Amino acid sequence: MTMVQETPKEGSVPDRAALITALILDRPMCLPCIAEKVLVSLQRAESTLETIATALVLRRETGRCVACGATTVVHSVGRPPA
Ligand SMILES: [Zn+2]
Repeated sequence: MTMVQETPKEGSVPDRAALITALILDRPMCLPCIAEKVLVSLQRAESTLETIATALVLRRETGRCVACGATTVVHSVGRPPA
């Protein structure tokens, strides 16, 4: 008997990460807005942000969300210093 590792397929993570990166590139946005725009759960959006943070400079700061205008914790991606 062999152990086969089954990875559940639920959409492409790289695609989602690319989508969110494009969304918040130089445009600080709160988590609920990010989740709403890419049609994922808050939890999924959060975990995707973690993925993005491993490759890019992810900024989390208190600021104004460009989408809903609320002053809250917003996330944005900066271009990595060259
Ligand atoms: Zn917002």
